[in-house]
Amino acid sequence: MASPTDNEPAAKTSNFLRQVIERDLEQGTYAGRHWNGAPGDAAFQKAGPSDPAKIRTRFPPEPNGYLHVGHAKSICLNFGLARDYQGICHLRFDDTNPEKEEQEYVDGIKDAVQWLGFSWDALGTKHLYQASDYFDFMYRAAEYLVEAGHAYVDEQTPEEMRANRGDFGRPGVDSPFRSRSIEENLQRLREMRDGKLADGAAVLRAKIDMASPNINLRDPTIYRIKHAEHHNTGNKWCIYPMYTFAHPIEDALENITHSICTLEFEDQRPFYDWLLDRLAEGGLINTPHPRQYEFARLNLTYVVTSKRKLKQLVDQKHVAGWDDPRMPTIVGLRRRGYTPQALQLFAERIGVSKADSWIDYSILEGALRDDLDPKAARAMAVLEPVKMVITNWDELMGAGRLEPCSAPVHPHFPERGKREFMFGRELWVERTDYEETPPKGFFRLFPGNKVRMKYGYVIECVGATKDASGAVTEIQAKLVPDTKSGTPGADAVKVKGNITWVGVADGVKAEVRLYDRLFSVPQPGAGEKDFLEELNPDSLKVVTAYVEPSLGKAKGDEKFQFERHGYFVADRKDHGDKPVFNRVTGLKDSWGK
Ligand code: ATP
Ligand code: MG
Repeated sequence: MASPTDNEPAAKTSNFLRQVIERDLEQGTYAGRHWNGAPGDAAFQKAGPSDPAKIRTRFPPEPNGYLHVGHAKSICLNFGLARDYQGICHLRFDDTNPEKEEQEYVDGIKDAVQWLGFSWDALGTKHLYQASDYFDFMYRAAEYLVEAGHAYVDEQTPEEMRANRGDFGRPGVDSPFRSRSIEENLQRLREMRDGKLADGAAVLRAKIDMASPNINLRDPTIYRIKHAEHHNTGNKWCIYPMYTFAHPIEDALENITHSICTLEFEDQRPFYDWLLDRLAEGGLINTPHPRQYEFARLNLTYVVTSKRKLKQLVDQKHVAGWDDPRMPTIVGLRRRGYTPQALQLFAERIGVSKADSWIDYSILEGALRDDLDPKAARAMAVLEPVKMVITNWDELMGAGRLEPCSAPVHPHFPERGKREFMFGRELWVERTDYEETPPKGFFRLFPGNKVRMKYGYVIECVGATKDASGAVTEIQAKLVPDTKSGTPGADAVKVKGNITWVGVADGVKAEVRLYDRLFSVPQPGAGEKDFLEELNPDSLKVVTAYVEPSLGKAKGDEKFQFERHGYFVADRKDHGDKPVFNRVTGLKDSWGK
């Protein structure tokens, strides 16, 4: 499959979300709405012009960790739909919990969205919002619900409330506080707001139906007391909205049309609609109100995609940090050598569905290979070096002589030029390329065999020196004259093996980090297992390699295809005077084979 270029998104396949949007556009569902340039209530929005955005979507992370590949899917989906349908996607920090917000995470999330190639800037406005800015409106909505007889203050203990909620087979039981008068409810709610009640002493509940088969409609809690400071609103509030109450309101104030979330929220959709229908009746929010649509979250094999578990890996130092190249975080994937285009291509290929499933890690790697193959410069590297000496070099070529060789930067794009390196008496070759007694089908180095040193000469292997343990310490070979690649008659000697090498004279010593999957099982932590027990002990192997001289000038983040070995990236952090390369992925899927 072709890979997308920087400006051109991958080919789109239709899906149920696209169908919903196309139907809404055809029917003009949201065509009459107004937008006053910022989030706001019905009166504010109505005073503005027609909404220039055909649709509005949002990506609403909680700033409590770094984003992972699952979030990347959601970002590509929400920003991608907005881009494709002349809409706008908002980045909204869901910070309604009065927990300490970490600026590090806020910055990280903004970086991740931008790096993936998306922007919240549209039509001269930054659509970057924080949910806590809507606390005033949320409280007003709560008072409205009380005044309209749709909410009450419940002072049962949490245990009583739990017991009276019933379960799947048993309807709930009305709270004794359910029939309080509107005046009493309003007074009590204001006392909650004014700090007169302790944490847990009361909650505000929507008054819906204690016998509903959907437990989420059995008078869900919408406000709770929590005497806690909030990073944005300080000590202004000691009551905070529940997520299920806050989220629909955030969507409504921002004129969101299609509120896309993961399947866990399917059972919350009736409450989403109930709440926005009530607020619309009261004239508080713009209409028609947003609708929620659910898709299956991304589960990727061999990694975990839960911020909590990822944080545990970082905190307990199982990895070097959030951006460890083995982490499925966006910063980790980036450091591993993933490109925004590869992640977009991946998101496009896996599509969206309504059924939970596991996506194989090889699909992610496949998208990366397809993206890197046309882009990455080629280079030779020897990861497990052993020296090969050409015993007749001095005699044939002259002592100390170095012969310049070259190879295309990319075999399909001659216009990208050539890389230059030197052939000489001593070369580094892969230890695994030598066998004293060759197994069947082995065409590389063994005594008596002729091979081509890629882009160089044909040589005949003569033998090898070993140490006491039997390990090869040096390979000897003889040059076959007049066989230099690219010179007339070079192909007269036919060989079956093609060996990659690096000159001892001009090769550059490098640290190469051979990363592998972080977990050794496809579904870490499935069943009763602790996911930490399933970490792959061989997920990182560091080797000292020799690389061709063109790589000595590599810049951090630059990607290469090391011939025969796979894709590698110059580490963006540790790549200083001494080159450091991270293995991105092999040339083809070899896991478990
Ligand atoms: P986690 O469980 O990892 O903390 P979360 O859902 O709590 O994830 P949020 O910050 O609340 O994280 O998520 C922001 C958005 O990203 C939500 O709209 C959520 O639906 C989406 N999202 C999170 N995880 C995935 C996933 N694995 N696949 C697709 N979308 C996801
Ligand atoms: Mg969350």
